[in-house]
Amino acid sequence: MNKTAVITGGGTGIGRAISLKLAEDGFNIAVNCLESLLPQAQAVAEECRARGVEAECFVADVSKFDACAEMVKAVQERFGSVDVLVNNAGITRDGLIARMSEDQYDSVVNVNQKGVFNMIRHVTPVMMKQRSGRIVSMASVSGLYGNAGQLNYSASKAAIVGMTKTAARELGGRGITVNAVAPGFIQTDMTAKLPQEARDAFLTVIPAKRGGRPEDVANVVYFLCSPDSDYVTGQVINVDGGMLM
Ligand code: NAD
Repeated sequence: MNKTAVITGGGTGIGRAISLKLAEDGFNIAVNCLESLLPQAQAVAEECRARGVEAECFVADVSKFDACAEMVKAVQERFGSVDVLVNNAGITRDGLIARMSEDQYDSVVNVNQKGVFNMIRHVTPVMMKQRSGRIVSMASVSGLYGNAGQLNYSASKAAIVGMTKTAARELGGRGITVNAVAPGFIQTDMTAKLPQEARDAFLTVIPAKRGGRPEDVANVVYFLCSPDSDYVTGQVINVDGGMLM
């Protein structure tokens, strides 16, 4: 039987690339998405099926505790197991501190930080019972080193690092590895929103002299979900062309 991977926000950008990479590796894919993104997610599920595995979309807002519980149950019923969780869903609502609204802060923390808690909380009992599992979450260089204009986002991404390390300590004895990936500047819809000057500024501080591709991140997630990384847990791996070292 194929193993099953759940990818939150799997219908676009980095999540899409991870879905396709893990499908190529023989995982059945549960593509999580918001209702509004269902057409894109369905297209990704179709691309996964074209790689010879089963794939289906699961609509759920990861910031909602009960919705995540229902999704994990539905994935288990549909595929029989949950072997990999990739916490990829995330949003930005950038602004300088002096002008950041409470809603700007709460919305980003609710999706990026609480969403990761919600998903880890609900897959953990399943993985503990299986005595195996892989959890990989999308942190960010912004959460490690800060980024002006992203107090809310960097708070949420730094929290992911803490959750990753705590979960790795708690679950290591149960055959479950927990790691994070910290992308730098990756060319997706999220970074397309940035002004051209901001995008140019990134390129000046990246030794690789190019923005990252979603596939650059997916390749590292693939490693963290493969048997080759059995003895790697509690780590944060930067995928940033050398931006931070
Ligand atoms: P993206 O906007 O294409 O992907 C984010 C996905 O999350 C979208 O599909 C979106 O619909 C989904 N999503 C948002 N809120 C959700 C919710 N409440 N429930 C379920 N899904 C939700 O952008 P991306 O660049 O592919 O980002 C993927 C992840 O990588 C994010 O966590 C982001 O913070 C992180 N990241 C991206 C970069 C970059 O440079 N692009 C850098 C560092 C970290």
